[in-house]
Amino acid sequence: MDTNRALPAPWDTVGDRLRERGLRWTPQRRTVIEVLIEADGHITGAELVERCRGRHPTTIPSTVYRTLDVLEELGLVRHGHGADGREEFHVRPIDEHGHIHCASCGMTWEIGRRRAASVAAALRAGDGFEVDIGHVTLVGRCRDCAARG
Ligand SMILES: [Zn+2]
Ligand SMILES: [Zn+2]
Ligand SMILES: [Zn+2]
Repeated sequence: MDTNRALPAPWDTVGDRLRERGLRWTPQRRTVIEVLIEADGHITGAELVERCRGRHPTTIPSTVYRTLDVLEELGLVRHGHGADGREEFHVRPIDEHGHIHCASCGMTWEIGRRRAASVAAALRAGDGFEVDIGHVTLVGRCRDCAARG
């Protein structure tokens, strides 16, 4: 992407919005946004730092993480946690979904919006609890591993 070209919605005003929050709009920050847009929905903080450094070796991790914090306040990214608790970032627009992780084989799957909603509805009906399904990874055992005993 060339530096002056407009970013696609909903990112087209992000430079102004970051500035309103006191962050300078630098080439490094623009690269953070470009890498996020190219990330296909999911990226960890460490992956983001690494890809940004690939383009701007002077990028420092605190710049990337500070930018992510403000982007989350703006609703453009949202963090969740992998099975090991590590932060993973969901890049908007992405459908609300959950993750399930098998502790035996180590696989992780997404559960789509409808099934995530039915898990949330069951907890709401039983306990009045509003679970934030996109924030956590449910850990357990997958069908294949359970079948193997
Ligand atoms: Zn996800
Ligand atoms: Zn969290
Ligand atoms: Zn498994």
